[in-house]
Amino acid sequence: MNVNEVPTGVGWTGLMTAFSRAHESLRKDRMFDDPLAAAVVTTANGIRSATHKRLPRLGPATNDGSSGLWNLFSFYFAHRTVFYDSRVLNAIDAGCRQIVLLGAGFDGRAFRLGLPGEATVFEMDQASVLGFKERILLQHNLVPSCPRVTLAADLREEIAGPLMAAGFRPDQRTLWIAEGLLMYFTQAEANRLLDRVSALSAVGSHFISEYFTAQWNFEDVNYELLDEMDQAVWDLLTWEFPSDPLAQEPGDWLASHGWEVRTCTTVGEFGRASRREVPPQFATADGPDIFLFDGIKGDGPKSSVTRQKSYESL
Ligand code: SAM
Repeated sequence: MNVNEVPTGVGWTGLMTAFSRAHESLRKDRMFDDPLAAAVVTTANGIRSATHKRLPRLGPATNDGSSGLWNLFSFYFAHRTVFYDSRVLNAIDAGCRQIVLLGAGFDGRAFRLGLPGEATVFEMDQASVLGFKERILLQHNLVPSCPRVTLAADLREEIAGPLMAAGFRPDQRTLWIAEGLLMYFTQAEANRLLDRVSALSAVGSHFISEYFTAQWNFEDVNYELLDEMDQAVWDLLTWEFPSDPLAQEPGDWLASHGWEVRTCTTVGEFGRASRREVPPQFATADGPDIFLFDGIKGDGPKSSVTRQKSYESL
């Protein structure tokens, strides 16, 4: 791992997520506090100003609510973080002690959720992202509350080998988190990943993830009204990382891989329940949204697919 390299390409999306979590942590009405995110932003911005534009901007130039794109992103990232946090804490309460972060990026859950010392967090991502994260952890003296194992891997490839070599136990229940990941995968890649995860999952394991409900288009973000830098961010996200939207509802997708949906909501639905100002894109149930879901591994293949008609309340 080269610890001096700032993640670019899809690795940059982790920096953007950290930027949003750092801003959330500064709010008086913050929903969580993420010291690692603040450290990531300080380091990345330091390198950015020292090396002149090596990094795309992490967020809007001013975080004063004037960027429609950033209002949308920060609402999305903050609420999804809360959704995943609640699922992690539930699983830990239920006795799960093995967590795998697929596309871990700058996820700080091993540092900020007070996970018990008997739990192990496996963090899988590209070597460049993990290397940069390691450098920040050392610089800022951040220490996890439980054992943490990092694994450089391409998640479109086999994952069993590196996990097993690192002490992963397929006979133990696992909490798998694929946060902000599947939108960078084609449907076929996502299917292969879930197949591989399923083969490594004991009954009672959880798979928590998200998926766009439909393709997001220029008009959904009022592209014409965005400033040049926000347009560049949108272009990067939509052109450089084209993905397929999920062809099924998450409940059906999970069932076709032997999982039962436990919770399925959307960022809009989840976010509207908070007291925050809701960006127009999430104010109604009409437009494209993002599914947030939690599946549990059953004890055998399902004979028929169960369609989730109404969302279980959280
Ligand atoms: N889950 C983290 C979070 O929510 O803070 C990071 C989310 S970030 C939007 C997406 C992450 O997925 C990046 O760190 C990126 O490097 C990683 N990623 C995307 N495709 C990957 C692949 N094929 N193999 C490994 N990591 C990948």
